[in-house]
Amino acid sequence: MHKTSSSSTLGPDGLDISKSFFKPIQGSTPPPLTSRNTKITVVGVGNVGMAIAQTILTQAIADEIALVDVNADKLRGEMLDLQHAAAFLPRTKISASVDYSNTVGSDLVIVTAGARQIPGESRLNLLHRNLALFKKVVPPLAEKSPEGILLVVSNPVDVLTYVAWKLSGFPSNRVIGSGTNLDSSRFRFLIADHLDLNAQDVQAYIVGEHGDSSVALWSSISVGGVPILSFLERQQIAYEKQTLEKIHKEVVDGAYEVIGLKGYTSWAIGYSVASLARAILRDQRSIHPISVLAKGFHGIDGGELFLSLPSQLGRSGVLGVTNVHLTDEEAKQLQESAKTILEVQAQLGI
Ligand code: NAD
Repeated sequence: MHKTSSSSTLGPDGLDISKSFFKPIQGSTPPPLTSRNTKITVVGVGNVGMAIAQTILTQAIADEIALVDVNADKLRGEMLDLQHAAAFLPRTKISASVDYSNTVGSDLVIVTAGARQIPGESRLNLLHRNLALFKKVVPPLAEKSPEGILLVVSNPVDVLTYVAWKLSGFPSNRVIGSGTNLDSSRFRFLIADHLDLNAQDVQAYIVGEHGDSSVALWSSISVGGVPILSFLERQQIAYEKQTLEKIHKEVVDGAYEVIGLKGYTSWAIGYSVASLARAILRDQRSIHPISVLAKGFHGIDGGELFLSLPSQLGRSGVLGVTNVHLTDEEAKQLQESAKTILEVQAQLGI
């Protein structure tokens, strides 16, 4: 077992320095503990896991981060590298171990472990490589943090979120996939770039599979409170359906392009997942397109599956799914996306 933690208090002579360093103030009593620590485990310290960990650290989202990986040297190296930034960051305890006992009592467990996409590989092709891995990883995580929330990032994220749900035995409100939270950010960026404004003023969702069959909800896009499509129609501004489809295609191709250029994606998924971690641990009750148990929504039937729908997140996980209006065409595309996921799932035997 290889276990290390950030808090070593023994001096060279074996004395516990922390006990003698501060003189107690006469008559003072320590303040009562009003809130307990928040702990996040990140499984997999590759490009994605580390981008997530470092974004969580800089945004002071948790009191404690536990890192897990099978590669002990890389794990220790990444832990030390983050710990060495302590003087520039809000205080967070960082620990790392190949042993799952280090993850005990996590409020949130983020799983990024897995084979990553190689250039040109579809996310669904990754599945069989990552299924075996999840069978090793999820049961001990669930056992060590039975009250925790599982947030799956590894691809194909929708199917692996379903796998994690089955393997953990957790209720569905406590198993989430990062889903199209990232795709929606790419979408908002492209629309904002097109209109030369701030992406945070663009309300726009990509739903369905995080991948090739995702669905752009054009009918509900608004910018600064103005519904875009009806605005264009009212102003009799012609827009080509192809133009809209081109923007959606850029979203779908976005990950492939980045992977083709730099080998992996990291920064955007880091921010995307950190935003979900904050929504959960700080009980933000904010709405995010994330992968949730989708059976029964928008005419999705035919089996249990996870795919992304705009959902409200808070301290207990998924609080609800928003009743977003879909056009008939959007609903049909979403049902097709669900079918794609179910077909893949059927090959798993899980
Ligand atoms: P990476 O190869 O850099 O890192 C994967 C890490 O997992 C490695 O450090 C490896 O040692 C570790 N690992 C392997 N088996 C393990 C096990 N049994 N237990 C613990 N750790 C284990 O890959 P990456 O670029 O960080 O990508 C990780 C995953 O995230 C991939 O599946 C990728 O497709 C996915 N991803 C998802 C999104 C999304 O939006 N959902 C975005 C980007 C990447």
